[in-house]
Amino acid sequence: MKQAYEIIEHNYDVVIVGAGGAGLRAALGMAASGLKTACVTKVFPTRSHTVAAQGGMAASLGNMHDGDNWRFHMYDTVKGSDWLGDQDAIEYMCREAVPAVLELEHYGVPFSRTEEGTVYQRPFGGQTIGYGKEMAQRTCAAADRTGHAILHTLYQQCLKHGTEFFVEYLALDLLMDEDGACRGVLVWNMEDGTLHRFRAHRTVLATGGYGRVYFSCTAAHTCTGDGNAMVLRAGLPLEDMEFTQFHPTGIYGSGCLVTEGARGEGGYLTNSEGERFMERYAPSAKDLAGRDVVCRSMTLEINEGRGCGPHKDHILLHLEHLGAELLHQRLPGISETAKIFAGVDVTREPIPVLPTVHYNMGGVPTNLHGEVVTVRGGDPEAIVPGLMAIGESACVSVHGANRLGSNSLLDIIVFGRAAALRAVESIRPGESHANLPEEATDRAIARLDRLRRSEGKTGAGAIRLAMQRTMQQHCAVFRDGPLLDEGRRKLDSVIAMMRDDLGVADRSMIFSSDLAETLELDNMLAQASVSLHSAIGRTESRGAHAREDFSKRDDQNWLKHTLSWLNDDGSVRLDYRPVHMQPLSNDVATIPPKERVY
Ligand SMILES: Cc1cc2nc3c(=O)[nH]c(=O)nc-3n(C[C@H](O)[C@H](O)[C@H](O)COP(=O)(O)OP(=O)(O)OC[C@H]3O[C@@H](n4cnc5c(N)ncnc54)[C@H](O)[C@@H]3O)c2cc1C
Repeated sequence: MKQAYEIIEHNYDVVIVGAGGAGLRAALGMAASGLKTACVTKVFPTRSHTVAAQGGMAASLGNMHDGDNWRFHMYDTVKGSDWLGDQDAIEYMCREAVPAVLELEHYGVPFSRTEEGTVYQRPFGGQTIGYGKEMAQRTCAAADRTGHAILHTLYQQCLKHGTEFFVEYLALDLLMDEDGACRGVLVWNMEDGTLHRFRAHRTVLATGGYGRVYFSCTAAHTCTGDGNAMVLRAGLPLEDMEFTQFHPTGIYGSGCLVTEGARGEGGYLTNSEGERFMERYAPSAKDLAGRDVVCRSMTLEINEGRGCGPHKDHILLHLEHLGAELLHQRLPGISETAKIFAGVDVTREPIPVLPTVHYNMGGVPTNLHGEVVTVRGGDPEAIVPGLMAIGESACVSVHGANRLGSNSLLDIIVFGRAAALRAVESIRPGESHANLPEEATDRAIARLDRLRRSEGKTGAGAIRLAMQRTMQQHCAVFRDGPLLDEGRRKLDSVIAMMRDDLGVADRSMIFSSDLAETLELDNMLAQASVSLHSAIGRTESRGAHAREDFSKRDDQNWLKHTLSWLNDDGSVRLDYRPVHMQPLSNDVATIPPKERVY
C-alpha cells in the first residue's frame, strides 16, 4: 500500500507541529540554542488562531497601580480554575509571566503604553489584588490586537534564528515505536501531494484547541484539535476534556468574539428589562466575574424570559457610554467586528451577544516542562519519551475547570519557552536517531487511505454539522445526566454515519480541501466522544462543567483530573489522576479549596 504514496524523509533534532504562539515560542527557543528545528503547520504561521487574540496577556507588572504581584495572580488563577488547576504549574506560570512580557517587549511586540511609557494593562475577569480584596489591572495589551502583535513578532524572531518552516503541511499521525516512545510524525504536503516522514528526538504538539467541535464558537475553522486526536490514536489519554469554556460575549448570530477587555474598559451587560443583572449574581466583580459565572448568569436570564430581541434569545453588551475616543484607541478591532457582524455602531448602540464556545481547558496531559505524561505501571505521570505538547492542545494543567481571560496568551509563551529549555538541556544536537517504526507509518497510511477512498453518500460537511449540533445541544453551559446520555447516543450514530456512509468526492492528494476536512472531522469526532464521556463521568459541578443534577462542587470525590482513552473499537475508558495541590517552591503555601464567589 505504501508504494502508492511518495514518502520523503527528514531528520531533525526537534519537529514542532503548529505555528501558533506556542509552537513559535518553542521553535524560537530551540533553534536559537542550536537544535535543528522544523516547524510544520497546516496554515501559514501568521494565520494561526493566536492571531485573533484580542484582549491581552496577564502578568503582574503593577504598571497601573502599586502592589500587584505574582502571588495574587496565582491565587486568582487557582480560584478561577475552581481548584482543579495544578498549583505547581500555576505558580511557575504566574512567576514567569513578568519576565515573559518583558522578553516579548524586547523581541519587538508593540504593546500599548501608559502616559509614563510603561506597558498598558487593563482589567480582566477574576483579577484581584490582596487575595480577592480589590480589582486589579493585570492584562498587558496591544490595543485589542494583542495576539496579532505577538504572533507576527515571534514569526520574525523564528526566521531570524533559522527555524525551517513547512507551510501547508498537514500532520497525520505520530510515529510511535513498540516501547511507547514517539520517534516523529507523518505529514501530508497539501501542495504537491507527497507524504513526509519527520524523524526527531522530540515531537512537539502545538496544534491548538478543538472549538470547531461545536456549532457556535469563536475559534478559527482550523481549530480542530488534530494533535489531541493523534495522541488518542497513539493509545495515550487526554485530560479534563469535559471542561469547555464558553465566552460570555460572542456576537449573536456569527459567534465572533468581543473581547472581555470590552468589559474591562467599562462595558456592561443588560437583560430585556434594561437591568445590569450581573450585580445580582456577582455583587463585587459584577460583569468581570469568572467567564463560567457570567455565562451561566446570562443563560439563566434568557431561560427565565429576560432575553433581548424578538425571540428573547440574547443579551446586550453596552459600550456606547465609553465614548468614541476611548473605543477608537483601546477597542478598534471589536468596533469594526461589531459593525460588520452585527451591523452595530458601538458608539451609539449595544451589541447583541450570546455565550459562545471559546477555549478548551482539556488536552494532552503534560508536566510543566511540556513533556507528555501517561499512566504507566502505577505511575499516573510517567513521561512518554520523545513527545511534548504545549499551548491550547496541552493540559498542564494551569486552567483547571475554568481559564481566566488573558491567561492563555501567557500559557502559550511561558510553556513554549519551558519546552524549549527542556529540549535544549536534554538533546545533544545532531545525535543519531533511533529506528523508525514501519508499523506506525503503515497504520497512519492505512487510516489516510481508508478515509480517502470512502465511497458512501454523505459528505464530511453534513456529518460535521450533525456532530456540531449534537455537542451544542447536549454538552453546553448547563448539562445533566439524561441530556448528556442522549448526546452520547446521538454522537454514536454520527460516528456510525462517518464509518458506514462517508463519501469523499475529491480524492486528489493535491489541495483536496474535501480530504483535509475529512481528516479533521475524524479528529474532531474522537474528541467529541471523549468529551461527552468525561462529562457523563463527572457527577459534580465545577468551573465550566455545570450539572443541574449535581449542582455542587464535590471536593471529597472529584478533586481530580479526568483521563480519557479512546479504544480501537471506539469505546471510551476513563481514569483519574490527583490534582497537584503542592506549589513548586517550599516558601509558597497551598491555596486550600473554598467556595468560589465573585
Ligand atoms: C477570537 C479569540 C480571541 C482570543 N483572545 C485571547 C486573549 O485576548 N488573551 C488570551 O490569553 N487568550 C485569548 N484567546 C485564546 C488564545 O488565543 C489561544 O488559546 C491561543 O492563542 C492558542 O495558541 P496555540 O499556539 O496553542 O494554538 P493556535 O494559535 O491555534 O495554533 C495552532 C497551530 O497548529 C497548526 N496545526 C493544527 N493542526 C495541524 C496539523 N494537523 N498539521 C499541521 N499543523 C497543524 C496550525 O496550523 C496552527 O499553526 C483567544 C482565542 C480566540 C479564538
